[in-house]
Amino acid sequence: MEILMTVSRIASICTMGANASALEKEIGPEQFPVNEHYFGLVNFGNTCYCNSVLQALYFCRPFREKVLAYKSQPRKKENLLTCLADLFHSIATQKKKVGVIPPKKFITRLRKENELFDNYMQQDAHEFLNYLLNTIADILQEERKQEKQNGRIPNGNIDNENNNSTPDPTWVHEIFQGTLTNETRCLTCETISSKDEDFLDLSVDVEQNTSITHCLRGFSNTETLCSEYKYYCEECRSKQEAHKRMKVKKLPMILALHLKRFKYMDQLHRYTKLSYRVVFPLELRLFNTSGDATNPDRMYDLVAVVVHCGSGPNRGHYIAIVKSHDFWLLFDDDIVEKIDAQAIEEFYGLTSDISKNSESGYILFYQSRD
Ligand SMILES: [Zn+2]
Repeated sequence: MEILMTVSRIASICTMGANASALEKEIGPEQFPVNEHYFGLVNFGNTCYCNSVLQALYFCRPFREKVLAYKSQPRKKENLLTCLADLFHSIATQKKKVGVIPPKKFITRLRKENELFDNYMQQDAHEFLNYLLNTIADILQEERKQEKQNGRIPNGNIDNENNNSTPDPTWVHEIFQGTLTNETRCLTCETISSKDEDFLDLSVDVEQNTSITHCLRGFSNTETLCSEYKYYCEECRSKQEAHKRMKVKKLPMILALHLKRFKYMDQLHRYTKLSYRVVFPLELRLFNTSGDATNPDRMYDLVAVVVHCGSGPNRGHYIAIVKSHDFWLLFDDDIVEKIDAQAIEEFYGLTSDISKNSESGYILFYQSRD
């Protein structure tokens, strides 16, 4: 094993010749991971919101593997997922280890499919992530439905499908979906009712000088429903004051955390950026899990961060920092750089409230160890 790897490394050094890029030199031929490629993405006019999310997702390994496996399936009619699969495949099969790729087909398709993205304005990376994951899940579910219809299931046996109110989970769900449980306790009769809700990512409020664990606690804090927000209690058969709290019941394989840094200011009639310093650790354990959670002790490692640079949602820039093997890389559209793990601190945000302009973590991707 060891010998084979050394041979392939030597082979790759020979083909690189004298043109080894700065990044390749910095990583060093000995350390450069076998079969890994670091390719920047060309910006097609404010498409950094898209580039940064695509890079982050590419380095969410379970997601990348599923997308590449989709590519190897029989050729399908073009859709957003086939375009994504082509792009990932193109990165993964490059002869060179580093370089730049234009994600032209993907961007063209994205603009064609959703008018929200059909312009040259800066978009919200979180909105794009949401759109992308939901669209892929829809495509997979639709394909499964088609296969069933074209497949073995004869006319007589379709009630099975029609009864399914929730379709089978796709690999997008297997990777990103977790479950929240919404517990409401009536303050009159003490009856607790709970309702489950699935999520593909969690959006948390941010506060100055805090940590992601603090934000998650805030997310699960008990809320009192009173006055006009009273809760209809089935037991009391009337509106009552109640305590409500949200906890994580099923922890996802990859936890995507969206920091709500863009806040609508009524006085200003526009969104402003909260550049607050929110520390996000390299390792994370959740504390806001429910008593009946299936896997409350899951340990997570930070694998990617989409960073927003600038002062507002419609201005500024997005970059991605990702973990690959044992080091960290920064993807800024077509530029790729190696960074120290300590440099991640620079993306926590600012302790000063005056400056709204910051380079701060916006979407965090944590991958479970098991
Ligand atoms: Zn009650």
